[in-house]
Amino acid sequence: MTNVIDTSAGGKAATPLMQQYLGLKARYAEEILFFRLGDFYEMFFDDAALAAPIMEVALTQRQGIPMCGIPYHAMTGYLAKLIRAGKSVAIAEQMEDPKKTKGMVKRDVVRVVTPGTLVEDELLPSRANNFLVAIAATGPRGGVVRWALAAADVSTGRQWLGECADDLQLNSLKSHLAALSPSEILFIGETAAALVGLNAGRAVTRLEPVPPSAGELTAQASESIRRYLQRDHAQALKSLRPAEPLPSAANGVMFLDETAIRHLELVAAADASRPGPTLLSVLDRCVTAVGSRLLRWWVLHPSLDAALIRGRQDQVETLTEESVVRTELRTLLNGAADIERISVRSQAGTASPRDLASLRDVLSRLPSVHEVFRRLADRAAIERFSPTLSRLKSPDELMETLAQELADEPPARLLDGGVIRDGVDGELDELRGLRRHGKKWIAELETAERERTGIGSLKIGYNDVFGYYLEVSRANVSKVPPDWIRKQTLANAERYITPALKEQEEKILGAEERIGAIEGRLFGDLVLRVAAHGPSLARIAEALAHIDVIASLSDAASENGYVRPKILETVEFRVKGGRHPVVERQLGRDRFIANDLNLGPDKDRIAIITGPNMAGKSTYLRQTALIVIMAQMVSFVPAQSADVGIVDKIFTRIGASDRLSQGQSTFMVEMQEVATLLANATERSFLVLDEVGRGTSTYDGVSIAWAVVEHLSRIASPRTLFATHYFELTQLEGRLDGVFNAHATAKEWPGPDGRRQVVFLYQIQRGAADRSYGIHVAEMAGVPSACIDRAREILKELESGNHRIDKAPSAKTHQLELFGGHPVLDDLRAVDVNALTPLQALNALAGLKARLERE
Ligand code: ATP
Repeated sequence: MTNVIDTSAGGKAATPLMQQYLGLKARYAEEILFFRLGDFYEMFFDDAALAAPIMEVALTQRQGIPMCGIPYHAMTGYLAKLIRAGKSVAIAEQMEDPKKTKGMVKRDVVRVVTPGTLVEDELLPSRANNFLVAIAATGPRGGVVRWALAAADVSTGRQWLGECADDLQLNSLKSHLAALSPSEILFIGETAAALVGLNAGRAVTRLEPVPPSAGELTAQASESIRRYLQRDHAQALKSLRPAEPLPSAANGVMFLDETAIRHLELVAAADASRPGPTLLSVLDRCVTAVGSRLLRWWVLHPSLDAALIRGRQDQVETLTEESVVRTELRTLLNGAADIERISVRSQAGTASPRDLASLRDVLSRLPSVHEVFRRLADRAAIERFSPTLSRLKSPDELMETLAQELADEPPARLLDGGVIRDGVDGELDELRGLRRHGKKWIAELETAERERTGIGSLKIGYNDVFGYYLEVSRANVSKVPPDWIRKQTLANAERYITPALKEQEEKILGAEERIGAIEGRLFGDLVLRVAAHGPSLARIAEALAHIDVIASLSDAASENGYVRPKILETVEFRVKGGRHPVVERQLGRDRFIANDLNLGPDKDRIAIITGPNMAGKSTYLRQTALIVIMAQMVSFVPAQSADVGIVDKIFTRIGASDRLSQGQSTFMVEMQEVATLLANATERSFLVLDEVGRGTSTYDGVSIAWAVVEHLSRIASPRTLFATHYFELTQLEGRLDGVFNAHATAKEWPGPDGRRQVVFLYQIQRGAADRSYGIHVAEMAGVPSACIDRAREILKELESGNHRIDKAPSAKTHQLELFGGHPVLDDLRAVDVNALTPLQALNALAGLKARLERE
């Protein structure tokens, strides 16, 4: 490796090479600079210190300068690590051939790779979009009132643009960010910069607002994306399609609050450090990348449009029933290339010969897709797909060109040659003929010279430095004829050339150079043709993705025993035998206990759900919200039957401990979430509240929880599941309109060790739980019995209305502490002899005895 640091000057003066480095670094201060030196990319100073641990390479020092390096051919893997860590990289290449250059090689940055602007398949998640987002906002410092958001996926050319269109303000912005999960965000202006925390851990850039001509917020956002791309990613601009409106109620999309996206584990586990199955992973059986991306979008953007949902349900139903057609379709689409991204790479001029070959391959499958659909038994069923199929029109002219011009199996790189078929270009054919002829001439020369010299081991070889040569082993040198010219001496052989050989070589190399140029031109034309078909390829990609998603949902439905939910326009929700789509897969279908739920339309809108910890309340809450989402994203649902009145917004308030890292108190976050849902829930909304009020003192907590239920009942009575340990809330049934009690059931009896055992039945039934089980669970968990007994005493005091616990521990609990007591007597009293089987009775007896002896 070249020595970068000038040792001769005692390390004080920068070498010319270092000056060159520093010059480039000044232009790319924010990025990590990969500086090409021979076969390595080197990093220096802070870049090296930052990048070495992420890339897991050694950080070394020379002349006190931290540095690290990676071999050029392994760049992609290291680049991927940096991008995943949210870093951007500027790649500086040698702009001249070092062999042909005297003095220092010119270097320049040829590409800036940032997390939000990737186009390389190897760096991109194939089954998810990769978003660059720009946010412009106004409002008092810290309190954003209005915002606009532009999102671009430069790898697919798709863009979205929208602004705060409702009272949800910051909440809808957070919800979009949770759904888009951008890998890079541009915050424009001071107000938006106050939001930086919203994207913790991702690449973030703060930009100055663009000039006043683009004063409007949406214009600010979209113009910022354009300018950002213009700087280092100008080719990406060519392939961007016009922006679509950001999903919102106005264009028929359900609002899912940020916490719902996270806590319901729609596309990622709530705890990012412990990845696990999600709704998407259960539903995604797509066989194409475009399909998986669309399905992810549907999961995150359920529809409000009953007609649209029903139309797509018809499609899912058809493919669920017609399993042969479904299987054929899935086989046909399996592994179909990513048309969307290939089309974009063509527009950017970076498509490879393989890209075009795989595009041709997908296009050639389209007629068969139509064919398979024609095999559906029922005419009406075919009709259902006609809007989709009509978009699936093969661009015949492009197909023909690709079939006629592109080789059957072209190499990955244009440089490797053989990309264009014979017969496409006369000159190309002629040059290939010359090359063939030249090579044949050389092969013949080899034979002829062997005969002439009698050297059986003589061979003709080729290398980049000397071109073609005749090679003879040392032992045979004496037989070499005088007309050969010696060119190189090796340990055991000598190499020679002849004027005739060189003449052929020139012809061959000349032909090869011309062939490369012609293939380059013809391939470039092909890429341009593909690029020109951008809009029709985009339509085809969309239609294929749609078919793949419908087939995937049908496959999941038939394998998991889902049913078609009935979509209603009333505010009700009725499910028989509902199940949690993810938990049932983990536990096994037969071990998951199904449950019913009936909410609305007029009565029973707000369920207060009590019951012991671990009895299945949270699972029930989540499964209900998931069934709503599945129904409106057009999936079938895990239930025996389901009627789902369209839900406009889903809010959840479930645990919040993970926000502590953002410096917010759990209770504060909890109350912010409550504030949001109270302010925004409508009659059509669906609320999932798990233990509201838990983060403060009991009285505060109960009071807040109580008031929240009252408020909900008064404002609109949105369909609500409210799980709580505050037993007091069960009094609301009958007092407030629409409020009713339900509970998770449990059975208990003395276990073999004398401790009471609770068995959860995971059945949710009407009515309140008979009591709270907290102390019980503490006992099961092994809290000392003296402590448990004391807790029971205090509870009794509290329940009797005495809220000052003046009393000292009773003699009994006191005694227990000193001498060990007889809690077994309490247990004995609690035994319901009539409810025990003989075996249980025997076990209970053994347990009591064991405990007596122990204590
Ligand atoms: P907590 O009040 O402590 O949050 P919980 O009542 O909400 O508890 P869940 O977390 O819903 O309880 O459930 C606990 C465990 O019980 C789940 O992880 C699951 O394994 C099992 N479980 C829940 N529901 C069912 C069900 N319907 N059928 C079978 N197992 C279930």
